[in-house]
Amino acid sequence: MAEYYYADTVVIGGGTAGAAVAARLVQGTTQTVLLIESGPDYGAFVDQRWPSQLLDARSLPGGHDWGYINGASTGRPGHLLERARVIGGCSSHNGCAAIWGSRVDYDGWTALGNPGWSADELLPFFKLANETLRVKRISASEITPWQQACLETAPKIGIPQVADLNNLDEDIGMSTSPVNILDGVRWNTAFAYLDSLRGDDRLTIQPHMQVDRLQLEGNRVIALEVIGPDGPLTVETDRVVLCAGTYGSPAILLRSGIGPDSELRALGIEAKLDLAVGRNLHDHPAVYLKYSGTPQLVSAMMDFVARGGILFSEQIIAKFRSKYCTSAYDLHLFPVGGPFTDTADSWEFLLPVANMIPLSRGSVQLTSTDPFATLKIDTAYLSDPEGRDLAILWNGIELVRDYACQPPLAELIGEEISPTVNYKAAEDVPSDNLHYYHPVGTCKMGPESDPTAVVDTHGKVHGVDNLYVADASIMPVVPRANTNIPALVVGERISAWLTQA
Ligand SMILES: Cc1cc2nc3c(=O)[nH]c(=O)nc-3n(C[C@H](O)[C@H](O)[C@H](O)COP(=O)(O)OP(=O)(O)OC[C@H]3O[C@@H](n4cnc5c(N)ncnc54)[C@H](O)[C@@H]3O)c2cc1C
Repeated sequence: MAEYYYADTVVIGGGTAGAAVAARLVQGTTQTVLLIESGPDYGAFVDQRWPSQLLDARSLPGGHDWGYINGASTGRPGHLLERARVIGGCSSHNGCAAIWGSRVDYDGWTALGNPGWSADELLPFFKLANETLRVKRISASEITPWQQACLETAPKIGIPQVADLNNLDEDIGMSTSPVNILDGVRWNTAFAYLDSLRGDDRLTIQPHMQVDRLQLEGNRVIALEVIGPDGPLTVETDRVVLCAGTYGSPAILLRSGIGPDSELRALGIEAKLDLAVGRNLHDHPAVYLKYSGTPQLVSAMMDFVARGGILFSEQIIAKFRSKYCTSAYDLHLFPVGGPFTDTADSWEFLLPVANMIPLSRGSVQLTSTDPFATLKIDTAYLSDPEGRDLAILWNGIELVRDYACQPPLAELIGEEISPTVNYKAAEDVPSDNLHYYHPVGTCKMGPESDPTAVVDTHGKVHGVDNLYVADASIMPVVPRANTNIPALVVGERISAWLTQA
């Protein structure tokens, strides 16, 4: 156990961003790095110890989930907020769409007082992330008959087919997705970043270890209190990079006494730094319009599968505009379809539509000082006082219903079915079960003068000299994108600064 007692840098959380941060620190410095992950580590891909459900890119497996619930501890029934607890984090169970967003997203981060995050400055990191994760665009011949019809129909509602969804300057278009899938395998960030470094004696990967809290002395972290497979342990270090994700990172800061003063005191935690930790939680609200398929479509899909075709989720994506849009785009459409079983009557076809510029803001709070206790997560979807989030989403639903009436899609698709067929007006859209898996923002990046900011532009926690956060939680505003590549870019961007330090 002795090697766990000290590392020059400790990276907490071996997820999408954390795997990259640990790797870049080993590659770019002479330091020892300890990467602590709460879930299991199944080793290098070549060792073939990974469970097939995590490798198989055709579905979103639920087996390694934290079990976070929307509204937990509020007394209302909640819904699962999926988050993976395994090395590679959510990149080990996600949909593998490798999407960048719009130039205005990242220029917007800079405009909020975060130099170094403009689209032009991030472009090398996007390219590096794509290259390291071995992203490639799906070819037209690889997509299902359902998605082929969706693609062909897009121009009928003014969405052109485009060559590259990751053109940061193109606002409207549908295309096959860039994905991190290799021969049907979900190529997660553990494979991409850690495999080549396994065996390097400056990198220790410690799975099954849950970080409870950080010990602070003055304005420095001096140690971490962790719960390992053999019980509690103290790890000393000179620097901590927190990569525990949008729910995990604020939870660790709060247990360490860094967060809203009154909230901490109410739980009997000694308040060390009054920062807006756990606030600013937001995600893209989404509605999954549900359709049955015609026998012709189901038979074409079964034929596609029989020929060895792969049915992974986000094979094609459209970015487009609601009637309220004033900049770039504000909607995503990502048609998915699949069977519950291998019988013809079990197929369902979804036309999910998401609002990509949500204003509503929720929160993550502790319910107890116990590191294994549930978190109180309030997603607060569609709660903005002006009702703009719902208006955009409802207009997106109207546009997608119109799209479903256009050929060739209309000739293949069946009826819209329950529950979405019952959404006759905006007010019918439920606010408690809507998400596109992209929560961000709970350790918001911004200047010290911003009372809602938790970290500065380099990811350093305001008021602590050697504590950084580098994951999706620091995004001040969610980009108009699926958030895996953006989270990875956060890891790459901050690592580049840390290796220069
Ligand atoms: C089902 C699903 C599908 C998705 N599909 C896509 C997609 O197709 N494309 C896309 O771009 N995005 C997708 N996303 C979103 C994307 O995967 C996430 O935004 C991204 O992985 C977030 O990265 P992260 O590094 O911030 O956090 P994570 O990847 O969640 O990493 C956090 C890590 O920290 C660990 N951890 C947390 N707390 C502790 C603790 N106390 N001690 C030790 N370790 C801890 C966790 O176990 C985890 O490994 C999807 C997400 C989900 C859940």
